Amino acid sequence: MTNIEMIRTYGHEQVAYFNNEKAGLRAIIALHNTNLGPAVGGCRLWNYESEEAALFDVLRLSRGMSHKNAAAGLPLGGAKGVIIADPSEKTEAMFEAFGEAVNTFMGKYYTAEDVNTDTKDAEYMLRTTEYVVGRENVSGDPSPFTVIGVYDGIRAVAKFMNGSDSLEGLTVAIQGLGKVGMGLAETLHEAGAKLIVSNNTNREAMKYAVENLGAVEVGRDEIYAVECDIFAPCALGAVVNSKTIPQFKCKAIAGAANNVIYDEAAGEALKARGILYAPDFIINGGGVINAGQEAFTTYDREKVVEQVHNIYNVVYRMLEESKETGLPEGVIATRYAEDIIYGRSK
Ligand code: NAD
Repeated sequence: MTNIEMIRTYGHEQVAYFNNEKAGLRAIIALHNTNLGPAVGGCRLWNYESEEAALFDVLRLSRGMSHKNAAAGLPLGGAKGVIIADPSEKTEAMFEAFGEAVNTFMGKYYTAEDVNTDTKDAEYMLRTTEYVVGRENVSGDPSPFTVIGVYDGIRAVAKFMNGSDSLEGLTVAIQGLGKVGMGLAETLHEAGAKLIVSNNTNREAMKYAVENLGAVEVGRDEIYAVECDIFAPCALGAVVNSKTIPQFKCKAIAGAANNVIYDEAAGEALKARGILYAPDFIINGGGVINAGQEAFTTYDREKVVEQVHNIYNVVYRMLEESKETGLPEGVIATRYAEDIIYGRSK
């Protein structure tokens, strides 16, 4: 497939390559769709093995942002930027040059931090462009909002399964006790849930969860097979795959990690096993609801929280439609987002 054919596959509006020799910047920005408003999506820095690999990634990620922003009810389109570089090669000049690249979209693209870029890098971009969201002194750390959304999504799953959204006495297995996983563990503990946790490296976090939240610790690869009501992946993508699906003893999967389902076949296999799934880009939308607000209105924390709580309703609706149609929840979620983006009414 040629590059142009790749770009047409997902119906992207614009894809631009940037080369700034002096600043050492090689980047691609993909504007997927702006039907709903200016496009928002972070800037990922990755040492891609080829330009094609970077293009493939930025096309996939930017389309994912269109879906995520639409499903979150935001008046925003989807885009993404990728910088092709080794993380050890990062410089201030590189991000200043990326800011200049963002300016060429004249407000149609807002960037943010992403994998291998952080708030400091965003500060360097802000020297040359105003089109940056998730600023430290405005919306700040998105993780607490992601926690609220994932917690609400889990309650919606409980309501669908049990007729009540109480989590009292339910067992949730959390993979990854990072910014989201730990916040979720604390919130679930307060709600009376029993916890099983795994984290490959962070001993401190594990110790805290065991001692203060009554969590049961299991090894990195044991988490998939534990008896629980809900498995909450909060570490890596692609953890629902042909190896893990036969192991699961959970009734539902609902967590923060992106791209949880390995591929279409995995989504279908999960459905065939009767395990419910809260679509990742819907349940983990709290962070983008928080940062995205900077792109279209004055930041208002209360309004953000109100909108994040709507994740409960959307997750519940996805589960209902999946039950009615027999289609995997992920397929329903993509359809839901695209109906909003392309103005298709049901
Ligand atoms: P984080 O880096 O703070 O935490 C991830 C944790 O997972 C780390 O403690 C890491 O040691 C652990 N981990 C890595 N591999 C593991 C494994 N195999 N088994 C168990 N633990 C493992 O990240 P985060 O911000 O908490 O985000 C968690 C996930 O949610 C990521 O996939 C992220 O993309 C996604 N997400 C986060 C946000 C947000 O607001 N932070 C928003 C949307 C999606």
